[in-house]
Amino acid sequence: MVRHKGFPGGAILPNDKGLSEGLEIQDIPVFSTVQVALDDGAGGRAEATVQAGQKVSCGECIASAANADGVNVHSPVSGQVGQIEQIALADGSQKPAMIIDTSDQKQSEGAGERPSWKVYSEGLIKCLRWAGITQMQLGGGSLVAEVRKATKAGLRWVIINGVESEPLITCESRLMSECSSEIAQGCELLAEVFALAGGGEKSAGPRGILALCGGRRQALGAMGKALQGGRFRLAALADVYPQDEEALLANTLTNAGLRAGSDPAEAGVLVINASSVWALSQAWYQGKPLTERVITVSGDGTERIGNYRVRIGTRVQDIAEHVGLLPEASVYILGGPFRGWGREKPQGVITKNITGLTILSKVDRQRPVACIRCGWCSDDCPAELEPARLYQLIEAGRVDKAQKAFLEDCIECGLCSYVCPSHLPLLEKIRLGKWSLRKEGRKA
Ligand code: SF4
Ligand code: SF4
Repeated sequence: MVRHKGFPGGAILPNDKGLSEGLEIQDIPVFSTVQVALDDGAGGRAEATVQAGQKVSCGECIASAANADGVNVHSPVSGQVGQIEQIALADGSQKPAMIIDTSDQKQSEGAGERPSWKVYSEGLIKCLRWAGITQMQLGGGSLVAEVRKATKAGLRWVIINGVESEPLITCESRLMSECSSEIAQGCELLAEVFALAGGGEKSAGPRGILALCGGRRQALGAMGKALQGGRFRLAALADVYPQDEEALLANTLTNAGLRAGSDPAEAGVLVINASSVWALSQAWYQGKPLTERVITVSGDGTERIGNYRVRIGTRVQDIAEHVGLLPEASVYILGGPFRGWGREKPQGVITKNITGLTILSKVDRQRPVACIRCGWCSDDCPAELEPARLYQLIEAGRVDKAQKAFLEDCIECGLCSYVCPSHLPLLEKIRLGKWSLRKEGRKA
């Protein structure tokens, strides 16, 4: 049975997942240099433990977590450590990154020690910190912090988020299709750690669900088989965007009644995306830290659409050259077409929370005209905001008033911009307003 959404607004978008959904994961080679962020916005900066000029092996720890919510960082390649430089992350923020030169280096896995952890929540946190595992989705934060918050709040649900409702992005579905047994193994580990109850909604104790869109048939079949006999149930959801936003997902599955953009962990609902569970399984059972991830490369500006396994820190420019660019390629979006961050040149690097690279030949952007007050943006807004009003306030420099109109509740899904018949860049303006608040130290 396919469950329908449990939130206001949202939209059924054109289904273009078919472009890459059936394409097997391919490896992207190691290029001459990688830029490994020491702070990718998911828990604070890690402090370098290696010096410039030092040789490192793939999987070797190069920076250790510097605060309670942070994680270690590992070299995704074998190479020679260079300087630490400031690089621009997808959202434009400048962060320190370690440059590693791989020229003339034979790529081999480091033979580091493999710790063992006790099967309880502190053991899980230790494993996440050791292996460098964060929420591997766009905007994803510290998974360590989420586990702590959810257990403190009295854990009721563990939800594995494989929903992926944004157009063009299929990396999670593909991972679930090809690595279902590793993901199921990670699920059972979580069931053990949190003493989840099996046996359906009426059973006592916290429960586990793995959710994905009903349209992802291959992933559904593979995960259904892999989870058989375990304590996680499978939930097939309607293909409504942005169903994968954590609070909205929690509302659909558990009737948690959360505001869009709020943190489900504070209500005892721990949401972990499927890629992070895959990474957890690899760390716990194979002693492999997180050094690579699967991304979807798509869009009408590339020659070879597909799902690719890529080392963390790989430059977008190298990926773009590898997959081939069509002469018309002109926009490079880190992430999907709705939530991603676009650039006119292939710039930036892959961090743990980048799900895709969308290369477009042109953006169908028509000249914005005045708002006609149709109300479509408000109707579709899953956060129940008034995007037109926010736009006007920010345009007029009244970010303070926009903050009072719940600017910070925007989950940056981009639906308002998509539906606006006046082609107003609503999300861009809202992001600008949030950025101003951060700059002035007033949250967001
Ligand atoms: S981008 Fe923000 S304001 Fe626009 S529809 Fe999404 S949540 Fe609402
Ligand atoms: S969708 Fe566009 S035109 Fe319609 S009310 Fe919103 S901002 Fe105005």
